[in-house]
Amino acid sequence: MKKVCGKYTIVSAYEVVEDACVIFDEKIVRIEKERDIPEDTVVTHGFASIHTHLGLYPIRTTLNSYLKLDEWVLKYVWPWERLLRREPELSYASAILAISELVLSGVTAIADMHFNEDIVAEALLRVGVRGSLSIAIMSKGIYSSLDEALQDNLELARKLRGVDLLEVRLGPTTPRLLTLEEFKKVVDVATEIGVGIHTHIAEVPEDAIYLEREYGKKLKDFIEYVGLQKVNTIVAHGVWLDSDSLDVLAHPNITIAHCPSSNTLLRDGVAPIRSYLNRNIRVGLGVDVSPTYSMLDEIKTAIPLHLGRGDLGFKELFNAATSTGYRALGVGSGLIEVGETADVVLWSLNEPALDPVTDVVVFGRVSEVYVRGEKIVENGRLARVTSNEMKELRGDVTRHLKKCLTA
Ligand SMILES: [Zn+2]
Repeated sequence: MKKVCGKYTIVSAYEVVEDACVIFDEKIVRIEKERDIPEDTVVTHGFASIHTHLGLYPIRTTLNSYLKLDEWVLKYVWPWERLLRREPELSYASAILAISELVLSGVTAIADMHFNEDIVAEALLRVGVRGSLSIAIMSKGIYSSLDEALQDNLELARKLRGVDLLEVRLGPTTPRLLTLEEFKKVVDVATEIGVGIHTHIAEVPEDAIYLEREYGKKLKDFIEYVGLQKVNTIVAHGVWLDSDSLDVLAHPNITIAHCPSSNTLLRDGVAPIRSYLNRNIRVGLGVDVSPTYSMLDEIKTAIPLHLGRGDLGFKELFNAATSTGYRALGVGSGLIEVGETADVVLWSLNEPALDPVTDVVVFGRVSEVYVRGEKIVENGRLARVTSNEMKELRGDVTRHLKKCLTA
């Protein structure tokens, strides 16, 4: 049995227990009171980043290029992705570096969409975090046909079936990179084989304009036509959703992944998250591609972003990153409760907490991280990957990146 103790244990965003230890094996077994716990310690549940592209970590700072989404994808994303497809081992190095930063910001579960996901799976297992993996299915761009991409995703599902800590979804990338019938086909296949969907919808206004122009369909009609309510679905971004589409997205199968940093830097617009929450739409958080792969930075970015736009507080964002994120992935409640999976983080603070939830986000440092009871971070460092290995992987990525960006 293992034990972590905190002056404050954040049971949920809205409930904090003082002077307690969490006792666990794979699951949380009990929470007991204890005396003389250091003032600067806090225990929380791990965060879930429910929309992430680990393989794009090396090009994360290109988000600061003052480009809009489509320009950025053409200039930086596709050249890097073509290289990743030629040299899959680069996905492993990129993913390890990205996961390291995520985990050291308290993330214990990652929904990733990209290519070479069998290799990304190895990286997740190496570090010891949970993953929900999908291939970015498109019939143009990186793949030459829908079938090629879909087969890749189905092969991944076969390969990872039954692997601990991992699940597979199908990843129809976005309405503009598949035809309407192709998108529907992917959702039908997901329904048939019993897996979820991970997609991007309405990150930019062009999605709705395209669907109307090409198919005469409003976003709501599109969502209903392809059948997203039938399967467990993560909708990344959802910045430009009209009132009718919100009605159909308020469904227990659907969670929106709000990505504050990437939306800001690509000037996508601001998703009106307050109004989504008011309509009982589930909203989790995703790091997506960001200059830092830190869930703490996403929360800190979201606070000023939503000021004057319905306002979102630290507690609501903490809840989105833990409880809503974990529920979206179907891994328990995301709360520190008996019987829940032991995905637990021990934080240290520089000073005694006034408001533990806010203070963890503002100045918390990760000391220990456990996933399903296994320790994956000790003394603020990854337990299973050495700093020498990290250095080598970083060197490898940097060499390729320079070649790619100057080609
Ligand atoms: Zn994305």
